Amino acid sequence: MIYLDHNATSPPHPQVLGEALPLLTEHWGNPSSSHSLSRRPIEAVERARQRLATWAGCLPKEVVFTSGATEANHLALRGIDRPGRPLFSAVEHPSVRAPAEALGGEVLPVDRRGALDLAALERQLTERTSLVSVMAANNETGVLQDLDSVAEVVHAAGALLHVDAAQVVGRLPAPSCWDLLTVTGHKSGGIKGGGALCIREGLKVEAQTLGGGQERGRRSGTVNPAPLVSLGVVATLVHGPEIRAMRDRLQSACVELGGVVTAAGARRLSNTLNVRFPGVSGELVVMGMDLEGICLSAGSACHSGAATASEVLRAMGIETADIVRLSLGWSTTEADIDTAIVILERVLGRIRAQGVA
Ligand code: PLP
Repeated sequence: MIYLDHNATSPPHPQVLGEALPLLTEHWGNPSSSHSLSRRPIEAVERARQRLATWAGCLPKEVVFTSGATEANHLALRGIDRPGRPLFSAVEHPSVRAPAEALGGEVLPVDRRGALDLAALERQLTERTSLVSVMAANNETGVLQDLDSVAEVVHAAGALLHVDAAQVVGRLPAPSCWDLLTVTGHKSGGIKGGGALCIREGLKVEAQTLGGGQERGRRSGTVNPAPLVSLGVVATLVHGPEIRAMRDRLQSACVELGGVVTAAGARRLSNTLNVRFPGVSGELVVMGMDLEGICLSAGSACHSGAATASEVLRAMGIETADIVRLSLGWSTTEADIDTAIVILERVLGRIRAQGVA
């Protein structure tokens, strides 16, 4: 099997398994217990907190561990103790979009390359804006936002900046300008179920789960050492140049096969390729590749039985459902890319020959 869907989730990194497995098999105690079985889990979780803080450029006490980015995004949007309504970019993940909409938030447009429209941000910011949510990198297109410029505008208006960096940790250095920062480990070699919200000191965030008072009262629920330790390991990893080289080789092959790369000229994650094969259904490509042992994602969503471009792509002016996403990661090899290119050519040829769009 060849796995080219790291932006959905990734296989656990060997270093992650080395550090996390003993917390499941041997040192499985509850970090909140007062007996000796809690000692190793506490130490491991606090080391993970330190590692994540080092990556994020904050203090360990500013890190609140959660079950993933979805929960961290909810904690940021619903928990922030500020009057007013949020603004959020049109390409945010549904785990930002849904709570933001529930709070009466307003959408900020992006341009055709998926970059936030800064002039619109300036226009839409008012004294009633509590927080602005802009992701560091988009999960579908890989487009990186210019967060320094966004932060300047947001802070000048007296609002807070929430950055969803779920697709960035384990791949790139952390963004520097944030008030609230969301991460998750499982896109870059971590185990599913480990995330965090980093909260700048002095900001008040109301807990969204009440109970045992874990995480200094900001997130009740038994602390889950294995995935959190895996997130700590992920925070020490970055993508090397070989990932970009493999992605670029795959990208050139797709273009030769008639593909049109989404946001080709934009700054993008080095592992992500979103590509349109005009007239060829993305879903059919995904199915055809899957039958040949290659995992990737379609860039479409199914609404009332009809496939259309995802919300993210529609926000960029792309309406068609002939898009696929290929995303590489730590486990991807040159041989994977060689095979993927050969099979993609075969699958596209088959679909085109059948004339099914
Ligand atoms: N934010 C972004 C940008 C994502 O890509 C994802 C996962 O796809 C999430 C949030 C949700 O992450 P989790 O699975 O950790 O809840």
